[in-house]
Amino acid sequence: MKVALLSGGVGGARFARGLTAAVDPADVTVIGNVGDDLEVLGMAVSPDLDSILYALAGLNDEERGWGRADESWRALETVSALGGEDWFRLGDRDLGLQLVRTQALRAGEPLSAVTARLASAAGVESLLLPATDDRQRTWIDTPAGSFPFQEWFVARGHQDEVDSVRFEGEWTPAPGVLETLEGADAIVIAPSNPYVSIWPILAVEGIREALSARRVPCIAVSPLVGGRAVKGPADRMLGRLAGGTSAGHVASCYEGLIDALVVDESDPTGPLAIRAVVTQTLMTDLAASRRLAETVLAAAA
Ligand code: GDP
Ligand code: CA
Repeated sequence: MKVALLSGGVGGARFARGLTAAVDPADVTVIGNVGDDLEVLGMAVSPDLDSILYALAGLNDEERGWGRADESWRALETVSALGGEDWFRLGDRDLGLQLVRTQALRAGEPLSAVTARLASAAGVESLLLPATDDRQRTWIDTPAGSFPFQEWFVARGHQDEVDSVRFEGEWTPAPGVLETLEGADAIVIAPSNPYVSIWPILAVEGIREALSARRVPCIAVSPLVGGRAVKGPADRMLGRLAGGTSAGHVASCYEGLIDALVVDESDPTGPLAIRAVVTQTLMTDLAASRRLAETVLAAAA
């Protein structure tokens, strides 16, 4: 069964790892968000692609939820001591990947090609694709002003309420993205933040249309457990932008695009225009991620 997964960073990466345990990893293509990408210390950083890559390669730090396991921070200590840009935390091992990617991009290699090369060098058997090779940047409008995504999320600790989310740039899908959506037996939207992880992917020309015109099931997993985000601001954003945190409010983020929503058993499904699949969605370990992926695939069968 060929599966296309739309994914952000942490929640998406955890799910992607479970999915590759549930089916042949070679049958999985992950389409990752690049709206959060940034330049830091002269390097081109793609945080969501990296979270997915590290999780699929088994290199991720489970506790922290982002970055690599067995990480050290000596380069960043030097950056701080020298008064450099130290607000975005990049560990020593992580920096190695950033150096290789940045050099390749400067030499003219498209992001999709570098990403595929890095993933395969790390032993990842699934295909990892950025939604686009073009420069896409998420902006967050708040009562305190408009901020580039990472300034709002990391530097300001996503404290400001969100009035709206915008994506800057003009983008065409990376090679393989539309082909993947057209050739999949099932399309899955990971338990990621709808607004800042999935919407930027859907904003890329042709992707939303491909989902609307799908001939195979498309299933989303809610990122909420007990009405709360497991991590991050998804619950507050849903409250303010969708008017609530029910399953219906999550589903409204994907109107016309999904056939079923997978909802945690601690959340009431309420009246839903689409099918609800109720299960435990907390991915505490690989076994839990795998069980969740199996439930999603069974619902798509
Ligand atoms: P980011 O790019 O790193 O912010 O990651 P994502 O957007 O992919 O994931 C963030 C979302 O994942 C948050 O809204 C969390 O609520 C959700 N999430 C994280 N872990 C879990 C989990 O175990 N189960 C579910 N259902 N959602 C999770
Ligand atoms: Ca992200």
